[in-house]
Amino acid sequence: MTRTFAKPVIVVSKCLEFDKCRYNGAVIPAKFVRKITEYVRFLPVCPEVEIGLGIPRDPIKLIGADDELRLYQPSTRLDLTARMNRFNRQFLGGLEEVDGFILKFGSPSCALKDAKMYNDELNPIVTGKGPGMFAAAVLERFPGLAVEDEGRLSNFRLREHFLTKVFMLADFRRVRQLGRLHGLVDFHARHKLMLMAYSQKHLRLMGRLVAGANGARMPRVMGEYQSHLFEAFARYARYTSHINVLMHALGYFKKEATTREKAHFLGLLDKFRAERLPLSAILAVLHSWSLKYNKEYLLGQTYFEPYPEELIEISDSGLGRNTRY
Ligand code: SF4
Repeated sequence: MTRTFAKPVIVVSKCLEFDKCRYNGAVIPAKFVRKITEYVRFLPVCPEVEIGLGIPRDPIKLIGADDELRLYQPSTRLDLTARMNRFNRQFLGGLEEVDGFILKFGSPSCALKDAKMYNDELNPIVTGKGPGMFAAAVLERFPGLAVEDEGRLSNFRLREHFLTKVFMLADFRRVRQLGRLHGLVDFHARHKLMLMAYSQKHLRLMGRLVAGANGARMPRVMGEYQSHLFEAFARYARYTSHINVLMHALGYFKKEATTREKAHFLGLLDKFRAERLPLSAILAVLHSWSLKYNKEYLLGQTYFEPYPEELIEISDSGLGRNTRY
């Protein structure tokens, strides 16, 4: 099954592979960013350089609590909060349509979840962790996009979810920009099993929306469809949902597959359930059966190839299925 993929547009923290712009003049090697470079269009940005801090520069810190965070440079006693807020408004407000963000973990500007927060600028004690000031603005303005930090992307499941989502959003962006009903119908049909794996509820809502659509209302329909898409992909698919989809797909072979083949397939599902086999191994079996028995519907489903197969890498940080969002 060879798919053509729309190229996702991804904003990336510039110190990840692109520039020596860390506070200490370093560039951070990021294997995943390097790997996907030829499959996406990156828009690198360094918020701290954009607000006028030099390279190298003295470190900055987040001071205060969640709702009243300030960005502060202890060595110069500069409060950089207003500058960063202004940059966030201008940069994010003027951004072309993008599909995702890959941010640098641990940074008071870019971290998605783990920037240290301090109680006081003079005698700082760590009081908690949260998003950096740029990342918080990203999450507020683009809650539906694929947003991750490069540290979390070393986990296989988070990486798979990110790639699935960002390539799906790029595909939908192309469909929405063309604004044609038949494009939306085709998108919905091709992503049906993927949507089933992520959210049966949204699959039904989106199916009704597409069935009731007509050419005159397309901008509104596209907007509503996109909202459902964002909600459906807000969390990753549970493994039990994947099993439901795989059983559904097995139904397409009820006449052709032999009793032994079906028993073998169910054995593979047991191994997947017990985390002893990756999903891709079962999808490979379904793919070969689809080719053998000419199941064009299944061959056209993005579920079997959600992103370019060259990007599949099963290395993992070891956190497995229990990884939190
Ligand atoms: S983490 Fe963000 S602000 Fe810090 S150097 Fe990298 S891109 Fe710049």
